[in-house]
Amino acid sequence: MCGIIGYVGKNNALKALINGLKALEYRGYDSVGVAYFLNDKIKIIKDKGRINELENNIDINDLPNIGIGHTRWATHGVPNKINAHPHSVGNITLVHNGIIENYLELKEELIKHDYNFKSDTDTEVACAYIDYLYKNNNDMLKTLHEIQNIFIGSYALCILINNDFNNIYITKKGSPLILGINTDEKIIASDISAIISYTKNYIILEDNDIGIINRDNYKIYNNNKLINKEILTFDKNIDSISKDGYDHFMLKEIYEENELINNTLNHYFNNNLLSSLPDISKYKSIYIVGCGSAYNTGLVGKYYIEKYLNIPVYVELASEFRYKKLFIKENDLVIAISQSGETADTIEAVKIAKERNAKVLGIINTYQSTIARLSDEVIYINAGIEVAVATTKAYSLQVLYLILLALRNSNIVINNIDKEINTIYNYDYKKYIKHLVNTEHIFFIGRGIDYYLSVEGCLKLKEISYIHAESYAAGELKHGTISLIDKGTPVIAIITDNDIAKKTISNIKEVKARGAHVIIVASDNINIDKEIYDEIISIPYNKYLLPILSIISMQLLSYYVAKEKKCDIDKPRNLAKSVTVE
Ligand code: GLU
Repeated sequence: MCGIIGYVGKNNALKALINGLKALEYRGYDSVGVAYFLNDKIKIIKDKGRINELENNIDINDLPNIGIGHTRWATHGVPNKINAHPHSVGNITLVHNGIIENYLELKEELIKHDYNFKSDTDTEVACAYIDYLYKNNNDMLKTLHEIQNIFIGSYALCILINNDFNNIYITKKGSPLILGINTDEKIIASDISAIISYTKNYIILEDNDIGIINRDNYKIYNNNKLINKEILTFDKNIDSISKDGYDHFMLKEIYEENELINNTLNHYFNNNLLSSLPDISKYKSIYIVGCGSAYNTGLVGKYYIEKYLNIPVYVELASEFRYKKLFIKENDLVIAISQSGETADTIEAVKIAKERNAKVLGIINTYQSTIARLSDEVIYINAGIEVAVATTKAYSLQVLYLILLALRNSNIVINNIDKEINTIYNYDYKKYIKHLVNTEHIFFIGRGIDYYLSVEGCLKLKEISYIHAESYAAGELKHGTISLIDKGTPVIAIITDNDIAKKTISNIKEVKARGAHVIIVASDNINIDKEIYDEIISIPYNKYLLPILSIISMQLLSYYVAKEKKCDIDKPRNLAKSVTVE
């Protein structure tokens, strides 16, 4: 969600800003803008829409050496030119990620001091407030220190001051910010993907850090003291962000799953390394927290951990966990799942867990991200950068690690599933989706683990195809929603668990009798009568990894539906990759 970039150095800042914004594009946004010093004045170019469109409005003869940029994911005010960042008030121009919750109070106060506002954003208020404080003290360090007790909410800020031609001021609370360091240039960004083509050396800003950044130097303060930040070196290979010939990042990422999953299996089973994973069997209760698909991985994790370790597992939406009555005790385990490691709600859930002295295990994709740093132990899923907003490979690897954690103390060996995944890749999805593309509603049903998988299959379809879909525990359907099943209503039923297959099959017959168009995703060891379905996607049986195999087929199903509908598959409307606001 939202990307921030800042550049000061020997090279063309505008080029660096645009490249940085493109690298951050995958996080999700609806507007974009840049501000830079040109002939000692700040020039702002911004609008609703995509970076490519903004590029058309940029004068390539502008060669600034310092500037800031932003991709906005609107929280306050519609996506339009006026609400887009950078915002400028008085002497201050800034970009902001986050939400200033008390912006209305601050706005009222500022109006009394003759400020007026053009946009609907909380950010313009923050900008005006910084201008107001700065006017009084003429000291940006002091100002950014003062806002810590004034702004309620979250922010990462990158600031330019009129007539201060060489410096960018930065600070953050709750939202991520890093600083990339080269001898004669500095790059500020929301994440590593935007700095990696300039430098591998970076520092991570902590909450309430305040920085003054210029071409040759940087100074970071916290609590009014100059601090020595550790310079980290990014030593992983970030694959260049390219589609490698695939039509979409999502398809590329689905096709990466085969190698990623099998590499992980080979790593743990061929080398006998399962015991190198954390031992979660010692805990009395386990909580899994996450949002969206990460939450859905927790459901699958619950099934496996309860089955193999006999420990009760409570899967909680991080956004609810924050505000509900909690029964977590010291020495319970909280597993926090997040691809980005920056999911605002999950970060807060982790903080609450730590306050209660629970142990926190992060299952994360992004190195050195906030949740990774807060957790007592971290499992990096090593999915590589995931660009498509709708997660595929990160979901599968998170599920795989939850399964491995559940099996850690067993002597079970899981073989490579390369052949099985290829079978799933090779199905003719265009045939399966014919009946789905022009429909308004789709139902997903399953029982037990299959219900948990249907929840993710359903979410994927909604996210990228904009078709309304609902997932139902198959036995629940007749307690209400079956009234919506009519002639031709598509129902996608998951049947991978042989123990309860007969029950799900009865539920399928109920919807079939009412005219539903049934697509079954079923393990090939289960006998299913041809009469009860219109299409079947046969999943090669595997004792432990059916969730992963069947979800890949549903990812592909969703992908082809969205493709047929000509949706913006990699950047679905209104969605953001890294949800850094509450
Ligand atoms: N709350 C700010 C706005 O709506 C910033 C949103 C963002 O993080 O992109 O403009």
